[in-house]
Order: sequence, then structure tokens, then C-alpha cells
Amino acid sequence: MIPTIEYIQTRFDEFNARFFGGQLPSIPIRLSHAKGFLGKVCYVRRRQSLFGRYRNTDFVLRINARIDLPEEVIEDTILHEMIHYSIAVNNLHDSSTHGQLFRLEMARINREGNRHITISRRLNATEQAQAHLHKGRVAAVIRFEDGKTGIKVIPKQIRHILAWDKQVRKHFPITQIEWFYTDDPFFAAYPSSVAFRIFLIKQPDTLPLSSAHRLVIEDGRIRLQTNASNPIKW
Ligand SMILES: [Zn+2]
Repeated sequence: MIPTIEYIQTRFDEFNARFFGGQLPSIPIRLSHAKGFLGKVCYVRRRQSLFGRYRNTDFVLRINARIDLPEEVIEDTILHEMIHYSIAVNNLHDSSTHGQLFRLEMARINREGNRHITISRRLNATEQAQAHLHKGRVAAVIRFEDGKTGIKVIPKQIRHILAWDKQVRKHFPITQIEWFYTDDPFFAAYPSSVAFRIFLIKQPDTLPLSSAHRLVIEDGRIRLQTNASNPIKW
């Protein structure tokens, strides 16, 4: 599921009552479309006086709404962030980001609520592909002289595309390089880099390129040939 603010608010209130004695002050909730995290508590650490103590203020709870996750994972993410929040809002000092205090609270809530909160959760391949779903990628389809076909995903910067195209043609027996701009999640499975490593494809006919846009290199410039069937999101 993709959470809404209302959903997160309901879970927050429920977990606050159940696991934190209703002691956590309400916090602004925002949806995040970032790829890099499932949840985050942001705040400002402010010094009270010249030699005084620090106090944390301006809290915001961010929960990922980009990736379709099982409800249980979203709940555990909210709980994970609520532990950070309870430590920060009470101006408690932990030994590290997920220090002793965090781990004690995590163990308590996992035990009391039969939850599976962890220190960090890695996204599986499907979730990672989803995270990159709306991110267009530049991919090259390379035909070699021996009849083999390979693909390569490279960062979407003109200088990288031009340099890579020029260099690989020098180094490998290549008959053709076709460039595409695509948001198909298939290509999210390949690392995006400027390295010369090309991934050979067994069945090039099945590459999902029917909705991709073409990038045409002419005289050291790149021209985008848009695919009418697919409105572009650059
Ligand atoms: Zn954390």
C-alpha cells in the first residue's frame, strides 16, 4: 500500500497511545517521494543560550509514499521513526543514531506489540525498481560485430553520454549503438555508471523499448526524438 497522511496520522495516534503512553506531542506529517529512505524525523537542534543546553525543535515526520510496501512494513517504519522522535523530543542523548536507547525502545515495542522493527531495512529488488519507476534513465543498446547485443545504463548527463559513446566505439568491435531515454523499470535493475562494462542480453527482441524515447547523437550533440505514445517526464 501507499500511505496517505490521514493513514499515518491514525497509526501515529494509535501507536502513541499504545507504546508511548500518549506522551508524544503531535508532529507535522509529510509524504516523501525520495528513493533513499522509508521514513525520517527531521528537526532543528537549537542552542538555548551561549553556554546552555541544546533543545530540539521544528519536528517533521516524513514517510515514503513512493514505494508500494506491505502495510506491516509501513507500520514498522512509523514506529521506527516514533522511537527517534521520542528520543529527540525529550532531548535525550543516545550513544549513536541507533544507539543503546534506541535499541532498548525497539526491543520493548517489538516485544509488547509483536512487531518487527529493525535498525535498517533494505529494499528488495521489486521495491527498488519501483523507487526508480518515475526516474527516467538513459540506456544504450549496443550491437557487436559478432552479432551479440548488450545494454548499458549511464547517468543522464550529456557529457557522459557523448564521452561513453565515443570511447566504447574506440575500444570494442561495435557495429551500432542506439540510445534511449526510458522510464521502464526493467532498466532500473542495471547499475547506472560510466564504466565500460556492457551487459549482454540473450533475447534483445524482448527489450522493453516500445515506449522509450530515442536519443540521437549527431555532430557531438544529442537530439531527443520523443515517442508519441509516451508523454515525457525528463
Ligand atoms: Zn532510524
